[in-house]
Amino acid sequence: MTIDIRILGGGKEVGRAAVFIEYNGRGVLMDYGVSFDENDIPQLPLHINPQKIQAITLTHVHLDHLGAIPYIYISKSPPMYTTRITIKLSRYMLEDFLKLSGYYLPFEYNEVLSMIDSSKPTNYGEIIELDNMSIELRDAGHIPGSSMIKTYIKDKTILYTGDINVIETRLTKPLDFTSLSDVQVLIMEATYGAVTHPPRKLIEELFIESVREVIENGGTVLIPAFSVGRSQEILSLLAEKAPYLNVYYDGMVRTISDVMLEEKNYLNKPGLLEKALREFNRIRSWSDRRKALKSPSVIVASAGMLKGGPALYYAKKLSDSPKNAIFLVSFQAEGTPGRNLLKLGKMFENQELVKARIEWFDFSSHAGKDGLLKLIKQCKNLEKIIIIHSDEETAHTFAKHIEENIGIETHIAENGDTIELE
Ligand SMILES: [Zn+2]
Ligand SMILES: [Zn+2]
Repeated sequence: MTIDIRILGGGKEVGRAAVFIEYNGRGVLMDYGVSFDENDIPQLPLHINPQKIQAITLTHVHLDHLGAIPYIYISKSPPMYTTRITIKLSRYMLEDFLKLSGYYLPFEYNEVLSMIDSSKPTNYGEIIELDNMSIELRDAGHIPGSSMIKTYIKDKTILYTGDINVIETRLTKPLDFTSLSDVQVLIMEATYGAVTHPPRKLIEELFIESVREVIENGGTVLIPAFSVGRSQEILSLLAEKAPYLNVYYDGMVRTISDVMLEEKNYLNKPGLLEKALREFNRIRSWSDRRKALKSPSVIVASAGMLKGGPALYYAKKLSDSPKNAIFLVSFQAEGTPGRNLLKLGKMFENQELVKARIEWFDFSSHAGKDGLLKLIKQCKNLEKIIIIHSDEETAHTFAKHIEENIGIETHIAENGDTIELE
């Protein structure tokens, strides 16, 4: 009897992560996310027979891991194991997702509720015994509450990384490097497998300096940021290094930050986020929005790629003056207004060139090449690596690097692949 690892999504793509680990006809579904096509229509992972699913695990609340899970709950109600903060946050993420893309989705709010009802808050390090395997969550260091998932089946130990980071930030500690020596099979993300991130401290100094410059010249800085993770990191950074600035925050970041403070245990430095929410200005109304635009200020708002939300409203308002700035701090997917802004100097085809200063800062919450290799080296009994959550070119570059430096068999997964372990 073999152990089958099925890649349902995230093969040669950054998006719709989904892995199914099966043994003897039953298995665990790890993430079931969505990606978006060029028309912004959500794409689901490959189908999996719900009868085979004995449990679901969710690594974190980003939509490329969470977005399609409610679909499973149309026909079945398997338990979903994840951290408590992830359960709380997933409700808001899915509500927002339904609001924006509900028309294209094969599930409704009922399935979201049924998913939440079936959720089992799980601590890092707790062993969950299932029918024919057991699983364990370990801190992934990516965003608060994010997990890697260890699976123990027969004599095999498999680690699925989800999204990982290896540096300390104000929000997160590095991923948990302990308890990796027994891992034999590693299913890993390699979003930045071909990149070495510049030192975070340097980026932070550059960022704060640039923000200050714009304000001193009488301009306003817009910081479009993902509502989970990046916004709170930026707010915490500003609270620590530039608390005297006039800072506003707007959009989903408000609710998400509140939930994070309810679940402080998952934050590395909760005091800073607390300080940010206490001392900075929460936008509550349209008159607040107009007020924020009246005098030099910093505005942190979702969405991170300027696809919508208050960030897009502010971006349009601030575009016309060279005094203002738009500082992007998140990954910008191809075809999004944020990517267009960096590439073409404007968000939309029919728009005039944006006069505001545009910059991008590498605040990535994903490990770069060195961090990924560090993880691999900690897995002392490794037999096989499966690369997912990476574009094809990056995956090849990273795989070559592994083979040359570490010499472990590496498989670049495609959607639909089944990897059999003896
Ligand atoms: Zn993520
Ligand atoms: Zn991801």
